[in-house]
Amino acid sequence: MSVRDQMQVRLLERRRILLRAIKDIKNDVLLGGPSVECLLEECDHSSSSSETLDLSENTRKRELKDIEHALTRINDGNYRQCTGCGQCISLIRLRLLPTAVTCFACREAQKRSM
Ligand SMILES: [Zn+2]
Repeated sequence: MSVRDQMQVRLLERRRILLRAIKDIKNDVLLGGPSVECLLEECDHSSSSSETLDLSENTRKRELKDIEHALTRINDGNYRQCTGCGQCISLIRLRLLPTAVTCFACREAQKRSM
C-alpha cells in the first residue's frame, strides 16, 4: 500500500467519525437531548450550552472541510505539494497532520506573519 493510499484510508476513516459525531449532535438537539429549553433565549443556561454545541460542531465541520480538501488533493495528485512553496511536504508532517497543505517551513512562516 502506498503512502498516498494509507493517508487516504486515514482521512476517509476520520471523515466517517466526524460525520457520525455531527449527526449525533443533531440527534441530541432533535430528540431534546441535553435540554431543548436550554436552546431558548430565556433560559439561564442557554448561552453556555448552545455556544459549546456550536463550537464543537463548527470545529468538526472545519476539520471535515480540511479532510475533503485533502482527499481532493489526493485525487488530483498534488496531495504532497506545499501550497506555499510547491515543495514536497515531508511524510513525517503528513503523518502527524494528514490535512496539512503546507510544508513545515511555510507553516512556520505563516505563524510568524500572523
Ligand atoms: Zn512550503
